[in-house]
Amino acid sequence: MTEPPIPSTPTGPAEGSATSDDHGLAETLARETGEMLVEFRHNGFERMDNPWSLQDDADMAAHRFILERLAHERPDDVVLSEEGHDDRSRIGQRRVWIVDPLDGSNSFSSRGADDWAVHIALTIDGEPVCGAVSMPSVGDVASTAEPPDVPVVDRENPVVVVSRQTMRWHGQSLADALDARIVAFGSAGAKAMAVVRGSADAYFTDGGLYEWDSCAPVAVALAAGLHCSRLDGSTPTYNNAQLFAPGLLICRPEMADPILDLIEIR
Ligand SMILES: [Mg+2]
Repeated sequence: MTEPPIPSTPTGPAEGSATSDDHGLAETLARETGEMLVEFRHNGFERMDNPWSLQDDADMAAHRFILERLAHERPDDVVLSEEGHDDRSRIGQRRVWIVDPLDGSNSFSSRGADDWAVHIALTIDGEPVCGAVSMPSVGDVASTAEPPDVPVVDRENPVVVVSRQTMRWHGQSLADALDARIVAFGSAGAKAMAVVRGSADAYFTDGGLYEWDSCAPVAVALAAGLHCSRLDGSTPTYNNAQLFAPGLLICRPEMADPILDLIEIR
């Protein structure tokens, strides 16, 4: 009599699908990295560190913290970080974490500014399936572990958040075309969170973004039921060979067409 085959024991998340643990890990990492950065920042201001060295040191400390945690928790997964070397062997891999350890570095090193964030995302086959964005200065974390409910805010004129560069070039034409109030601040994560939390109706940029700038914000915004697209209306994909891509719109679904129709303002 032959022995029955020994069933293989899964040793980690099933390849090709995200688990609730993946969502939870993204949230935990965004929160814990944020807490570490708050302390790092406080100590840097106390010591009167040079702002440039403060943000560089913080970038690297947060990067190392995230890499160590992911190496321990998900040793088989690939990690693409803004602060790391782009190992091109990531291309074609199924599970790739895309992280920005500190988004909005200039604000991080400015006293009183809270428009900086930590981005943690997991992409599977190029789709942003898990994500978390923390805004450590205000103690806020939004993630796909518990997709946020976007509050309905009744206001006379829509609020559109943009980068400072978009504000400089297109702020007035956007305001006129949408009868909107245009607000500019730093960090793609902070701007996406303004839409997720209902203080803005749309985040629009016609500038280029790296994948780590937009991946976690898009994962969270999609899970919250918001519209996310490039300016041609296509849904962003990730873990591409080319990491820099132009334009992003995150908004309430009903704002998408009116804004995409304005693309000629570019
Ligand atoms: Mg960064």
